[in-house]
Amino acid sequence: MKIICVGRNYAAHIEELANEKPTDPVLFLKPDTAILLKKNPFLIPDFSSQVHHEVEVLVKIKKIGKHIDRKFAPGYYDEIGLGIDFTARDLQQQLKEKGLPWEKAKAFDGAAVVGNFIPKKELGDVDNIPFRLEKNGEIVQEATTQLMLWKIDELIEYVSKYFTLKIGDIIFTGTPAGVGAVAPNDVLEGFLENRPMFSIKVK
Ligand code: ZN
Repeated sequence: MKIICVGRNYAAHIEELANEKPTDPVLFLKPDTAILLKKNPFLIPDFSSQVHHEVEVLVKIKKIGKHIDRKFAPGYYDEIGLGIDFTARDLQQQLKEKGLPWEKAKAFDGAAVVGNFIPKKELGDVDNIPFRLEKNGEIVQEATTQLMLWKIDELIEYVSKYFTLKIGDIIFTGTPAGVGAVAPNDVLEGFLENRPMFSIKVK
């Protein structure tokens, strides 16, 4: 399986990092080795002194597809989840300045938290799902999918122009504002519509 991540999909997050607003979604990949194993803590890697949490809504693909029109996109996923796109921000900044790919900053081991998934039929409108991240019991990121610049079905259309989507692939749909650094002993808890989706300890 592969993980396809979307960058710069929430206006307020683009502003907080002083990035340019893209004319198309920004895409990058994470390998399956980036997935943090269930129950394991997140270990801050020694090559970064500024790892940021990015809470993101996840879409699990259930059917193989290429060049999927947005109006058929709902037939390609039944489950929505929540996760974290851990980002070595200091390293990413260096790579961005040199115009280099971001993989070292975003695709390292443990950099993808994949929490629980729930059937989309239990969620109502997928384009208006509230979600949040709490760090040590305090809300640090909070948004709804309504704030996405490109909604889930548009993302599936766009992503599948470039990459064949296969069963089990996961799309990370971008992070809202409020990203910040994690420190040892932090506890990160994600909620989708008040349902607990993951709990991660940082070491
Ligand atoms: Zn992200």
